[in-house]
Amino acid sequence: MIHRQPSYYSSFRCLGGACPDTCCRDWDIVLDPETIADYQSAPPSLAQRLQSSLTIDEDGDTCFRLDEHGMCTMLTEDGLCAIQKEWGESHLCGHCAAYPRFIEEYGHLTEASLALSCPEVARLLLTASAFEVEEKDDGHPDLPFPDIPPELMLGLEISRKKALDMMSQRRYTLWDRLQGILHMAHSLQNRIDAQEYSAMAGVDAVPCVSSPSDCKTFTQSLCRFFVSLEPLRTSWPQRLVQCCQRLEVLSQEEYQVLCRDFEAQFPQWQQHLTNVAAYLLFRHWHKTVNDDQLYPRTAFFAASTVLLYHLFLVEWAQSHTLAQAQEITICCVFSREVEHMEENLELAMETCATLSPTSIPFPNS
Ligand code: SF4
Repeated sequence: MIHRQPSYYSSFRCLGGACPDTCCRDWDIVLDPETIADYQSAPPSLAQRLQSSLTIDEDGDTCFRLDEHGMCTMLTEDGLCAIQKEWGESHLCGHCAAYPRFIEEYGHLTEASLALSCPEVARLLLTASAFEVEEKDDGHPDLPFPDIPPELMLGLEISRKKALDMMSQRRYTLWDRLQGILHMAHSLQNRIDAQEYSAMAGVDAVPCVSSPSDCKTFTQSLCRFFVSLEPLRTSWPQRLVQCCQRLEVLSQEEYQVLCRDFEAQFPQWQQHLTNVAAYLLFRHWHKTVNDDQLYPRTAFFAASTVLLYHLFLVEWAQSHTLAQAQEITICCVFSREVEHMEENLELAMETCATLSPTSIPFPNS
């Protein structure tokens, strides 16, 4: 069995009460049956609080109650979980114990990743010198991967490696690399649709010089689209509307100057967004085994990277600085509102699928 994880995976430590956000806010955490049974024997000091903190959601599942600020009612004043603090980590439900770790299993392969919606994960990702993947073989026999053609899995393995290799080629701009990956994913999608999985290995990623195009208008459309999705917190649509309005008042020339100044004064933007795009590639590319939708995913990665660039840009434009905390907030909110909201992610992929590889405009770096 092969195990893979990003190189920064083992450096993750939860910030606990020092976290600038918390994963105990806004999400409905559904409890698994084992945890519900475990809570029947909670210590007396916790039993009553637990009892009043559990509720039934609209699907009939037991989950933690949220207060009027969207905070889990098991959260203590010091920002820690009462269950973990008073009873121990082993009594956390499956979701709380795992977050921000995600494990995906693909038969012979287990991949672990960390969700970008956690501020500490975002910090680790943004400050990594490169997005690198560690791999080890534990020597155990592979598990069966029923119903998935082995040739499809192999095609995805080979092509994602090419895409991640392409992302590491710093002699090309981020946009040229993404354009090349988009073209590759488009060709791969044709092979997947025709079930010609063995032909996937022959499709290469070649960097393409993206031609000048109207990225400002495209980004405004992206903002409007994301505003139309169901938000978890109102700060997300507010940020998007603000970005859209900021771009609206700029002439094409002013926009170009702003991008040039931003890139010159904040050159780390490219490595940071390269890391984020590579994270999205690593985490989502293989999920194509579930729905055959490789190109929609790739178009979503590319469009999301363009959106994040502009969210960084307008934030920077306010004071001509972009603090690490601001970058982290932008990445976390994007991940929370789009990556973790299944319906939003599906709609985003569906919409991005309608864009051809050449119709996604990139800033002219
Ligand atoms: S969001 Fe991340 S750092 Fe913050 S409390 Fe949750 S796991 Fe810890």
